[in-house]
Amino acid sequence: MRRGARSIVWVAFKSRRFKGRRIWISTTRPRKPSFALRRALFSKPIASPKSAEAERLSRKLSPKDYLAAAKDYQRKKAEAGFAGITWAKEQGGRALPPIYAVIFNSEEAKFDAPAHPFSIGLGMCVPTVIAFSDEATKDRYVAKALRGDEIWCQLFSEPGAGSDVAASKTKAVKDGGDWIINGQKVWTTGAHFSDFGILLVRTNPDVEKHKGLTMFIVDMKAPGVEVRQIHQASGGRDFNEVYFTDVRIPDQNRLGEPGMGWNVALVTLMNERLAVGGSYGPDYKEIFEFAKGIAAPSGEGALIKDEAFRQKLADWIVRAEGYKLAKFRTMTALSRGQTPGPESSIGKVINANQMMDIANTAIEAQDLYGIIDDPAYAALEGAFHQSYMFAPGLRIAGGTDEILKNIIAERVLGLPQEPRADKGVAFKDLPSGR
Ligand SMILES: Cc1cc2nc3c(=O)[nH]c(=O)nc-3n(C[C@H](O)[C@H](O)[C@H](O)COP(=O)(O)OP(=O)(O)OC[C@H]3O[C@@H](n4cnc5c(N)ncnc54)[C@H](O)[C@@H]3O)c2cc1C
Repeated sequence: MRRGARSIVWVAFKSRRFKGRRIWISTTRPRKPSFALRRALFSKPIASPKSAEAERLSRKLSPKDYLAAAKDYQRKKAEAGFAGITWAKEQGGRALPPIYAVIFNSEEAKFDAPAHPFSIGLGMCVPTVIAFSDEATKDRYVAKALRGDEIWCQLFSEPGAGSDVAASKTKAVKDGGDWIINGQKVWTTGAHFSDFGILLVRTNPDVEKHKGLTMFIVDMKAPGVEVRQIHQASGGRDFNEVYFTDVRIPDQNRLGEPGMGWNVALVTLMNERLAVGGSYGPDYKEIFEFAKGIAAPSGEGALIKDEAFRQKLADWIVRAEGYKLAKFRTMTALSRGQTPGPESSIGKVINANQMMDIANTAIEAQDLYGIIDDPAYAALEGAFHQSYMFAPGLRIAGGTDEILKNIIAERVLGLPQEPRADKGVAFKDLPSGR
C-alpha cells in the first residue's frame, strides 16, 4: 500500500529496559528479504503482494494515522523519560550530557519509530524557545511539546532567502502591544500539521541585513496564516508555502530583543546542522548484499564481481568509515561537554552524496526492473527509490552542499572568506532588499 493510502491501523510497541528504565519502542520494522526472494516475486503475478507487516510504518498508515501514532509514541517516550534527555529537569528533561542523547538517538534509529514529526520542533525550535524566553513562556510551551501534544515548525526560508536566510523579507511592524506580520515563507516542513512555529522576520530594513531581524513564536492557527502544501516529485507532501496576511503576534511571543533575530536563528541553525547530519537510506553494506544477487552489466556473473562496481564500493566504504571516525570526534567533544564545531558540516555532505550515488547505482544495476518503485515488488521494498528521491532534498536542507563546503573551507581549513558585497549596506539599499 502506498503512502497516503488508508490501511488498518496497528502500531506495535514493546517495552525494553534502558538504564534501568522502561521504554516503549515500536516493533514495526521492515523485513529485508534477500534479492533472490525479490526475483521470485517478479515472476509471480502482481496479485501476490508482500504482506503489509513488511512495510515501513510511514507507508503503511495514512498521514493522519501516522501523526496519531507519532503523538502516541512521543507521549510514551516522554513518560518513560527519554524525551528531552539533555533538557533541564524543570523543562521535563533529565539534564544529562549530550552524549546520552546521541546514544539514545542511534538506538532509536534502529527501529521504525514514528519520531519524524517531532524532529524539527524538539530538535531545533523548542531548544531555541528555551534559550530565549522567560519562565512563563517556557511553562506554556515546553512540556506540551515534549509530550507530543503540540508540534512545531521552522519558518525561516523564503523564495528569495534560503542559503542567504538573513535576506528574509517577511516583515513585522509594531502596533501597540502586538506585531503585524505580512509576507511569505516556503519549504516549511510539517507546517500543515504544526500548532506553532518559530518565525524569522524583518523588523528594521534601515540597518544591515543581519541586524534588522527578529524572531517570534507564531500560532499556526492564528487568523491570517495560510498554509499551502507542496506536492513533491516523490508523491509526498511534506513541505508547505506559508502566507502571512496581517497576522497579529503579541510582543510576549518575541524571542530575544528586536533586531537580535540573527543571533537567535544561529542557535536554531546550529541544532539543525547537527540534526540532519545522520545517515539515511541503504548504505554500502546493503548494496554489497544486493550486488551478490544481481547480474553484472556484462552478463558475466554477479555485480559484486564487476571491477567498476567494486571500485565504487571501495570508495563508499572508505568515505563511510572516514565519516564514522569524524563522528567519533563529535561524540568525544559532546562527551566532554564541548560544543561540536563547524567540522560537523562534513557529515551531511558525505552522507547525502553517498546516499544518492548508492541509490543511483542500485537502480541502474536493475536495468528495466529499476523503474519499479512499488514497495511490494521493488528491491529492498523500494528503499533505493526512496533514497534516490530523498537525497537531493537532503543535499539542500540544513545548508546546501556548496554552503557547507564554504563553511568547511573558511572555518575548518581557514581559507579566505567569500567576498561580501552587502557588508555595511542597509537592507533596503540592497538590490534583493527592495
Ligand atoms: C528537505 C527540506 C526540508 C526543508 N525544511 C525547511 C523548513 O522546515 N523550514 C525552512 O525554513 N526551510 C526549510 N527548507 C529550505 C532550505 O533551508 C533551503 O532550501 C536551503 O537553505 C537552500 O535555499 P534555497 O532553496 O533558497 O536555494 P538557494 O539559496 O537559492 O541556492 C540555489 C543554489 O545556489 C547555491 N548557492 C547559494 N549561495 C551560494 C554561495 N554563497 N556560494 C556557493 N553557492 C551558493 C546553492 O548551493 C544552490 O545550489 C527545507 C529544504 C529541504 C530540501
